[in-house]
This record gives sequence, structure tokens and C-alpha cells, in this order.
Amino acid sequence: MDIITAKHLNYAYGSDTVISDLTFNLKKGDYVGIIGQNGSGKSTLLKLLLGLIKPQSGKVYLFETPLREFKEWHRIGYVPQRSGIFDKTFPATVEEIVEMGIISRKKIVHRLDAEDRRQISSALSVVDLLHMKNKLIHELSGGQQQRVLIARALAGKPDILILDEPVVGVDMIVQKKFYDLLKRLNKELGITLILVSHDLDTVAHEADYLMLMNKGELCTCTKDMIEKDKKHYVTL
Ligand code: ADP
Repeated sequence: MDIITAKHLNYAYGSDTVISDLTFNLKKGDYVGIIGQNGSGKSTLLKLLLGLIKPQSGKVYLFETPLREFKEWHRIGYVPQRSGIFDKTFPATVEEIVEMGIISRKKIVHRLDAEDRRQISSALSVVDLLHMKNKLIHELSGGQQQRVLIARALAGKPDILILDEPVVGVDMIVQKKFYDLLKRLNKELGITLILVSHDLDTVAHEADYLMLMNKGELCTCTKDMIEKDKKHYVTL
């Protein structure tokens, strides 16, 4: 099944073209990295795919449905950049943050039922944080907070996770564990992944294929292509 299809997308801020005739197709189970330097249009592309901005021309389909008719937003989990989200004044526990993933899915104020509770525990188990569910979120390390955000997205039972620069500011060991977790979500739970990053080297190791953004253009390549011709892709 096609999860995301973009056809001939164009987007410009005023006269500044950021996305130029961009076409691609993401299938169920894909693990794709969207790579590009700062200012190359990664955030703009995400906003187009999530319907937050409208392309000047071109079309986006989510789960084979035209974007403007799409309503099943719980199927798409979005994990924002971590830095500075939770400071000491943020009063929620780990469990309460994950609950938000379910409440946003149901869109109405309601009491959580037993199935919801099971789903929250299961999401926290997947990211190995069930034992920390009663801690205040700011008591956790940066890497742990990032995993809580993943659990929040998982609680909505998404088919796809979109992660925006998820490991900025966390150390290498935590990064490695984090990427192992993503691989597990992809290979064992079959969740489609889009990983947005400026770090070509790392993501080239992790994702099954890459979309490189450069001055509005898109170049799709596999890991093998990068291994063979690294110089070309690194300097793109
Ligand atoms: P990235 O996420 O890869 O850093 P962005 O999509 O944020 O790239 O930005 C791409 C280009 O569009 C940059 O040149 C940026 O300055 C410009 N841009 C982004 N948002 C706006 C905006 N709201 N108004 C005008 N220009 C913008």
C-alpha cells in the first residue's frame, strides 16, 4: 500500500522556490531518510505532507486519499525535535505525556478505558520506559524524553512515524540505542519511518533509502549508491 505519494509538488516563499517539481512514493514498511543541509527545504516538505501549508501546484496523497479528504490523522505519528520541549515548569508525568497520544486520537475529553491503559503501557514497554511512568518528564535525560515522545506517537497506533531531527543534542551511545529502537519499530512492528536529518553519514547507515534535498531538487538513492559514490552524495 502507498503511504505517502507526492506528485509534482512546487512550493515557493514569495519568489524563493524551495520545492521544485518534487515527486516520490512511500510504501508500507519503507524506512526512508530525508537528508539536506539547513535551509534545503526539509521542514517545508514535512509541512506540505502534513497539510500545514498548500503547494502552489502538485498533489499529496496520504494512504491513497487526496490530502484534503484525509481524516485519519491518528495513523500518522509525528515526533518533533526534542530540544527544549520539557523544562522544569512542565508538570506532567511520563505516563500523562503518553496519554496525550491517545486523547488526541479520540479528540474528545473522555476517561481512559482499560484498552487505552493497556496501549499506554505497551507503548512505554516498547521504548523501555515502563518503569519510569510515574516520573516527572523533566527528571528524565534528553534521550529518555525523546523515547517518551516516540511512545506518545505509538500510543495513537500509527502506521507511519515522522521524526524530525530526533537525536540533536544527545550523545553517541544514546543515539545508537535510539536508532536500534527505530529499526525494531520498522522491522518487527512494520511501522513506516521517515527520518529527517542533516546527518547523511548516520542516516545512510540506518535507513533503507535516502531522499537528498538540495536547492529544491530531490535525489533518491539507495545505501549501495552512496557507498559506491560517497563523494558525490556528500557534496550534493
Ligand atoms: P530545512 O528544514 O531543510 O532547514 P526549511 O524548509 O526550513 O529548510 O527552509 C527552506 C528555505 O525556505 C530556507 O531558505 C528558509 O529560509 C526558507 N523559509 C522557510 N520558512 C519560511 C517562511 N515562513 N517564510 C519565508 N521563507 C521561509
